[in-house]
Amino acid sequence: MDFIIRPEQKVSARQYDVAIAGGGTGGVFAAIAAARAGAKTALIESKGYVGGIAAEGGCGLHSFFNLWAPFGVEKRMVVRGIPEEFIQRLYQAGGCSGHNDTLMRAEYDSDTLCVDVEIYKYVALDMLREAGVHVMLNTVVADVVMEGDRVAGIITQSHEGCEAVMAKMFIDATGYGDLCARASAPYTEPNDYSCANSMGVGGIDIDKYYAFMRDNGALREYARGPRDGRFNQLIRVDGDWSQISPELKAEAEAIGMARVTTTLHDNYFMFIKLNYHMPKTATNRDALADAEFELRSRQMKAIELLRKTVPGAANAFIARTAPTITIRRARCIECEYDITNEEILAGTHYSDEVFSYGFHDMAPRFQVKDGGTYGLPYRSMVVKNRANLFAIGMMITSDHNAHMSTRNTVSCMAMGQAAGTAAALCVKNGLGGVRDLPYTTLYDALKLGGVWFDAEVPYKKA
Ligand SMILES: Cc1cc2nc3c(=O)[nH]c(=O)nc-3n(C[C@H](O)[C@H](O)[C@H](O)COP(=O)(O)OP(=O)(O)OC[C@H]3O[C@@H](n4cnc5c(N)ncnc54)[C@H](O)[C@@H]3O)c2cc1C
Repeated sequence: MDFIIRPEQKVSARQYDVAIAGGGTGGVFAAIAAARAGAKTALIESKGYVGGIAAEGGCGLHSFFNLWAPFGVEKRMVVRGIPEEFIQRLYQAGGCSGHNDTLMRAEYDSDTLCVDVEIYKYVALDMLREAGVHVMLNTVVADVVMEGDRVAGIITQSHEGCEAVMAKMFIDATGYGDLCARASAPYTEPNDYSCANSMGVGGIDIDKYYAFMRDNGALREYARGPRDGRFNQLIRVDGDWSQISPELKAEAEAIGMARVTTTLHDNYFMFIKLNYHMPKTATNRDALADAEFELRSRQMKAIELLRKTVPGAANAFIARTAPTITIRRARCIECEYDITNEEILAGTHYSDEVFSYGFHDMAPRFQVKDGGTYGLPYRSMVVKNRANLFAIGMMITSDHNAHMSTRNTVSCMAMGQAAGTAAALCVKNGLGGVRDLPYTTLYDALKLGGVWFDAEVPYKKA
């Protein structure tokens, strides 16, 4: 490989209080929270919309509730605040199913919440603009300006060219950890999960899919909710295709096709996921390009499989794909605290926790004790060796099994509110670093922002 030296360049610089890299699942809520707390906030997103994987790959949003059903305990909405306000807005706009009891396999997630991905993108953007966030779409986080252990600015690239977004506090919500990596924060790349491209399929009927699974003894999971203006309709169905035939199951598995789908519309599956474990980490550009191709070829095979398998779906077609691969993990950023699966399963609460959470993606194998919750510590979002940088979303938590809990959409949203609020408070109080923020100040602000703390905590103010 040849090398060149890039010449120094004078670029325009804009000043903000808080800058957030990545307007995905977590970044949206970080930006709304920071702006509502009075910070002049910039949100930098490489795509032409916000919402990230919650609007591209996730089948149902896991989970605003504790796992009440299998334990027969009280049903509690444990994640509230801005994420739940967003869900209410989305529901009003016809963009989600609201919260519905899961009718079969409730020991995985007792609540079913399905979204319409396009309305999701619109409502999220609407709320960001309402909050006064400067939303920079089609803008890439390309580099950083460092001053010692502080991030001083983000160098962005857009169709306008190169710019500097200067700020006092920064949040990396890129999923990939691009900002942290540019800022030379410590990280690993475990490459321990498959990536995916999730497609929407038209011309296919969830009622027929359900009946086919049920009649073959293959029904694994389902939930009912509103669909196209009618209540109590099927909105989520999963099947065990091995019950239909081992060959069919093998065909689906060969292309990494998940058999679960959700929908809010008749004759439409909102999600069919195709999974693929890349030979190299998702930050490798050329490996990523190969994976993009591989997943599109899997989508072609999947549509054929659905056409021949699901009754009445002979004319099914791909109505939507994610614009890029969605990943479950790329860089894992080292933070001041690294929560373990044992702590999650034990329902551990911390003296600096910023929200409560109760879902585990490996349930029922791994469940939070007694259908309860655990807390996410503030320290687990504070990037090691950097003074003014948070990491949120899928890039924290190194323990593979613990990550199966913390990386889920609703957890990422709650992290966003926590980090956005904290960053704004640091600026408001003239603090030099995120470690200087008194926990009680953050706790009070989160409570005011509607965050619900599930545990009786010793630090509660009298
Ligand atoms: C296929 C799949 C299915 C899943 N299914 C579910 C599910 O059913 N339920 C559930 O709860 N969870 C599910 N998850 C997990 C969950 O969706 C993700 O872990 C979570 O959404 C990640 O949120 P995030 O904010 O960390 O990242 P993202 O939502 O990916 O947001 C990152 C954002 O940063 C932007 N970005 C990246 N790099 C740059 C850059 N350099 N400059 C500017 N912008 C940048 C991206 O475009 C993106 O918008 C699934 C994940 C995958 C991959």
